[in-house]
Amino acid sequence: MHEPGKNNFSDILNDVLPYPKINRISEDEKIEKIEYHFTEIMKTMGLDLTDDSLKDTPNRVAKMYINEIFSGLNPKNKPDITLFENKYHFSEMLVVKDIALYSNCEHHFVPIIGKAHVGYFPEKHIIGLSKINRLVQYYASRPQVQERLTVQIGEALQNILHHNDLAVVIEADHLCVASRGVKDISSQTVTSHFSGKFEDKSVRNEFLSYIRNNK
Ligand SMILES: [Zn+2]
Repeated sequence: MHEPGKNNFSDILNDVLPYPKINRISEDEKIEKIEYHFTEIMKTMGLDLTDDSLKDTPNRVAKMYINEIFSGLNPKNKPDITLFENKYHFSEMLVVKDIALYSNCEHHFVPIIGKAHVGYFPEKHIIGLSKINRLVQYYASRPQVQERLTVQIGEALQNILHHNDLAVVIEADHLCVASRGVKDISSQTVTSHFSGKFEDKSVRNEFLSYIRNNK
């Protein structure tokens, strides 16, 4: 019997944050600061913070930012990735498609909603399936641009698998495009990251045919 292995995430340097000092203050202090500043934003907009419906909004927003939608800014929240020995010597392409993706655009702080698709060739190891979803959600839980999110997921997988035969495709709607500016409600943004065997056109097409099925 082989024991499932664990990957050491402290080795992964692909996502060093631009402002590491901020992580020296506690999550509670961050919530307090955001609550204060969000109160100022609401007051500036002329909102009545004595209103029952609004009075707790700054605290709710602050908690949501830190504990939920931007929790991926805290490296402590990185998922542990379980790897399983590839006992069956499965050598075909493995595809996890239609992973629900919720992120936020760093230019406007409004949602990016879409799907991520990941493909890789198992060599020595297979990644526990739900772990890929968790990894996607971790990197998505930051103010993002879709291109960087795609590359970060690809690089994280490469670090976990110790090879680069992998593909990441993200299809997403940006609410900043749909609800403001050009107000285009039907356009989608597609980004991709193909490396190793996936640079080969026929391999890439096989992957794309899997993710295009039953749309
Ligand atoms: Zn935007």
